[in-house]
Amino acid sequence: MAEAPAPQRSRTSIPRNPGRHDLGMKATLLFPDKDIVERFYVPLVYTACRTCYSELEPQEIFRRAVAGEVPPASMQRLISNVIESGHGSTIEHIVFTFALSGVSRTLSHQLVRHRAGVAFDQQSQRYVKYKGAATMLPATIAEGDPELRERYEEQVDGALGLYGELVSAGVPGEDARFVFPNATRTNLVMTTNLRALIHMSGLRLCTMAQWEIRRLFQLIRHEIFGVSPFLGAFLAPKCVPLGYCDEFNNRDEHCPIRPHKDNVLAAWAEKRDAARAAGRELPVT
Ligand SMILES: Cc1cc2nc3c(=O)[nH]c(=O)nc-3n(C[C@H](O)[C@H](O)[C@H](O)COP(=O)(O)OP(=O)(O)OC[C@H]3O[C@@H](n4cnc5c(N)ncnc54)[C@H](O)[C@@H]3O)c2cc1C
Repeated sequence: MAEAPAPQRSRTSIPRNPGRHDLGMKATLLFPDKDIVERFYVPLVYTACRTCYSELEPQEIFRRAVAGEVPPASMQRLISNVIESGHGSTIEHIVFTFALSGVSRTLSHQLVRHRAGVAFDQQSQRYVKYKGAATMLPATIAEGDPELRERYEEQVDGALGLYGELVSAGVPGEDARFVFPNATRTNLVMTTNLRALIHMSGLRLCTMAQWEIRRLFQLIRHEIFGVSPFLGAFLAPKCVPLGYCDEFNNRDEHCPIRPHKDNVLAAWAEKRDAARAAGRELPVT
């Protein structure tokens, strides 16, 4: 029987949201807790920002901020202005440490590509001898053709079974692991400063990001919101602070969060041409 064509995604449909599926992964903020964030994190960033514009010594700025002598709204306003102006070093002074568990190696390989302002430690497939390695099952396979799903599971189970046999036969774990599929789950500890976290979130919360890593950053954002809604609000797809989408693959705007920059520029050019036809020039500032 001929295969039915894949349904066309409508131009305005919101891309598949990984949040609808429980992927069995966890992201837990280990440090700091809400108390530390509230008492010290905003005052720390405020001190870094204020030091640039004040005759006061940073010791005194920090003392006043922690003592509650600066209204929280003033601190937040200054921090927002500085972040929105791109003065990123001010938010490198605060860090967050996460326990990430049950993510696939497919995800971790993408995650550890981030280099600046972030540190990782990951469960070793060399030193850990797995008795029952867990794997991730993508929803498209779980909910797709049952026969293909069965074959997928056979392959994955077969690979894990062979791993066990190799280890039992005396093959070192560092060599037996070569049969592990990308679906194999892993655990990491990740520490990142706020600047790097905003940058990573901008890329990974974008609907163009792979579903699993996008879900991970949704969980991470949820954790940050739990300790500071103010700081959590800075974790957003990169198009939100930019005001436009710069992803090449979204020129058709199937993701509707922000207009694509080509369309923004085309709309501007249209206005400019209309103004010129009417004998005016559009202001450039
Ligand atoms: C949707 C998506 C698809 C992707 N597809 C692929 C793919 O097909 N193949 C592939 O290989 N990768 C792919 N990547 C990974 C991507 O190319 C980056 O390696 C990854 O996102 C890390 O981001 P970053 O380069 O901003 O690094 P980070 O370490 O997060 O760096 C943060 C910022 O610091 C600056 N910086 C860091 N290091 C340097 C440096 N050495 N020199 C100068 N400036 C620096 C840059 O401004 C950088 O943006 C993809 C990423 C995304 C989000």
